[in-house]
Amino acid sequence: MNLKTTFLTRIVSVLLTFLIPLNLWMSFHPGAKIDPNVKEVLKKTGGFMKGCCHTNQDYDLLEGANIGWTRKDIPFPYNKDGSMSEYYLSWKKEMKQYHDNGIKVFAITPYPHDYIDYGLDPRKPENRAAIQKIAKFFVKDLAGIVGAFQITNEMGIDRFTLPLNLDEAVDFIAMHAEVMYKETRKSNVIIGYNIANPTVAIKMLKYSKWIDYIGLDLYIGCFEEFVHDINLFPVLLGIIRGVSQKPLILCEFGYIGYGEALSKSEKTELINGYGFKNETDAIENMDEFLDELPPDMSREIEKLYPDASDEELGEMIFKGEYANHFYKSLPKNCKLYGYDHTPAGQAKFYRDLIPKLRKLDYLCGAFVYCWADSSHCYVCGQAECPVETGWGLIDGKGNPKPAYYAVRDGFSDAKKSPIQAAADKINDSIADLNAKRVELADRIRDKFENFGLFAKSAKFKK
Ligand SMILES: [Zn+2]
Repeated sequence: MNLKTTFLTRIVSVLLTFLIPLNLWMSFHPGAKIDPNVKEVLKKTGGFMKGCCHTNQDYDLLEGANIGWTRKDIPFPYNKDGSMSEYYLSWKKEMKQYHDNGIKVFAITPYPHDYIDYGLDPRKPENRAAIQKIAKFFVKDLAGIVGAFQITNEMGIDRFTLPLNLDEAVDFIAMHAEVMYKETRKSNVIIGYNIANPTVAIKMLKYSKWIDYIGLDLYIGCFEEFVHDINLFPVLLGIIRGVSQKPLILCEFGYIGYGEALSKSEKTELINGYGFKNETDAIENMDEFLDELPPDMSREIEKLYPDASDEELGEMIFKGEYANHFYKSLPKNCKLYGYDHTPAGQAKFYRDLIPKLRKLDYLCGAFVYCWADSSHCYVCGQAECPVETGWGLIDGKGNPKPAYYAVRDGFSDAKKSPIQAAADKINDSIADLNAKRVELADRIRDKFENFGLFAKSAKFKK
């Protein structure tokens, strides 16, 4: 980021910080309480959906955090030869187990690229009927197991959307919604889609009649350096409610639990480790540089951006989409004020935010992202990358992190006695200490491993 943009960024963030308290009224829509559509969704879902993404089947631990819904991706149901996919069938069996154990299932239909791989390109009008047949199949085959459908995921994010453009992605959502909405009217199942890009919600307005809810995925303070106020969550939800007048679900929200900023010299040292002098040197030798990157990262960049110039790739890798993955760090300003990217900061985030969310009458549910810390980042493949590894309510060994208890309390409907509140506070502190102890033990272990005193352990393995 050059000096001019840094300056502009600061001005924008200062303005937003001042404007947000004034604009909090945006999040309040008193009419939502009597909105028949909101009432209908809440009736079908059995009340506010207290959910979590990518859970495992530890039902006691899920129940202990007052989590009543799991959010899962449906695998594409067919093999290339048209036979049923074993993967789909075993997924369905697992979802039935969730259902039978009292955890409701919020299921996400496959991505456009899954249909393209199967030979059904959604951009070709002749494939529309076959895609709608699969959409109908999901509703029928998963009846009695799935309680809510989300049509595909985060259209507008390149990784999930390409090769479709935004208009084609909206059409892809709509062709599902048209049949799935009709199929579910006599049941308690709800249909909707989620946005990670507000333009999708605007473009989808004309199809409002085919959906029960709009979903939002919000990660303020985790991927950008512009805004730092936790109150932006209800403000953004309020804006989408105002524009759409639809019931909303927060399909993903969370806070990265680890990650530190790197100094300039640490960054240079990291580039040197790849065999390049600095960012300019890497951009000037982009082909060689791409070969040296972590394989998952270079594979994705080459697949998604085959026509990008060396400068554009450099911008993405050092300043944009891939910067935090490449530098395995979070920039200093990438945070909400008052919430560090630590296990304790992550817990405070849930403790403060969930009560604010539950006051919004038009919000029918919230899904925490996510259940467990991950052994490696799903974007770049690196174990040390904080971007997609530290989101869990439990750590890689299955121990609750402080955030687990914060979510438990946020999702609880019970009024707390002062004694209970004090006991919870003590529990939080113990969990916080435990998280620090585990982190320290891992660091010490790493040091010993570097000296060859231990065989490589199954650190963070689920
Ligand atoms: Zn990463």
